[in-house]
Amino acid sequence: MFSYRHAFHAGNHADVLKHTTLIALMKYLTQKDTALTVIDTHAGAGLYRLDGDYTETSGEAQEGIFRLLSEPKTPAAPAKKAPAGTKTAATGTAKPAAAPGWAPALQDYIDLLRGLNPQFAETGNIAHLKIYPGSPFIEQQFLSGRDKLKLFELHPTDFKSLSGNIEQLGVGRQVAVSREDGFEALKTFLPPPARRAMVFCDPSYEMKSDYGRVATCMADAVKRFATGTYVVWYPIIPRPEAHDLPRKLKTLAVKASRSWLNAALTVKSSKLTTDTSGEVIRPGLPASGMFVINPPHTLKAELQAALPQMVALLGQDRNASFTLEHGG
Ligand code: SAM
Repeated sequence: MFSYRHAFHAGNHADVLKHTTLIALMKYLTQKDTALTVIDTHAGAGLYRLDGDYTETSGEAQEGIFRLLSEPKTPAAPAKKAPAGTKTAATGTAKPAAAPGWAPALQDYIDLLRGLNPQFAETGNIAHLKIYPGSPFIEQQFLSGRDKLKLFELHPTDFKSLSGNIEQLGVGRQVAVSREDGFEALKTFLPPPARRAMVFCDPSYEMKSDYGRVATCMADAVKRFATGTYVVWYPIIPRPEAHDLPRKLKTLAVKASRSWLNAALTVKSSKLTTDTSGEVIRPGLPASGMFVINPPHTLKAELQAALPQMVALLGQDRNASFTLEHGG
């Protein structure tokens, strides 16, 4: 059960999509005067070293954050035909002409990385980008005194790292870390005291049952507290459960009369290939998505600007593309 360690994947292309979206959400939701409760059901270790053993072994950050930062910036791609039945804000492929700079959401993401990596901020040299923030650190950066952050992590080692990393922040009881099942624990926090909450659900999908648990957990959460913002990351892989999850979340949002947004980023083909010796090469994660129930009205425009840049910079073959759908 516990073979997944996010440290192997920190800073990969899925993290770029996930964390850029998370920053845009946190930035908007913490602007209001009323207290916000943020619940991160699958928190991970909180902080990762990009020059550490795990990250260096997998090399996934090379196809994510390092690739993003090492290429010249390029702009929005031409639109592709939209999937039927939904309002589609945009779809696109890669490789357009030169652009003036980063989309604001990507700029915020890079600024956050700069804040954690002073030497990188000073030199702009990606060799100096050594620390990568997980979702807990991203969320914490935006909190003000009245807000609360609840973090859940089951893996014993990651829980220990997370607890130590959060303790170093010296933020006291504003951030609570628990070694509990995040799917179960969520129930006890909804509805939140000030009736404002964002829930981030980011399982490893190591077990097939995670797909069903996400859908059930989100349905229960929306029933308990209909106006919360619910955010789910999911992998796009050739597996029926993975394929069904965004569809189930969409049905859930529509039935509950809630607005929704679904952003997906593909960086390469999901097809198996063979090397010169005939050995089968698995492509690794080709694509992932973020599904948001009750998204802020600003999110669509933020992602509409950022996704084409992600495609252009992170795309590895001609299958690179994005979709951005919304409804409600
Ligand atoms: N959200 C993190 C981020 O963006 O930096 C990454 C989280 S990682 C994809 C998923 C984490 O969930 C792993 O660290 C795993 O140990 C943990 N986990 C798995 N099942 C869990 C459960 N039922 N409750 C809480 N944590 C769980």
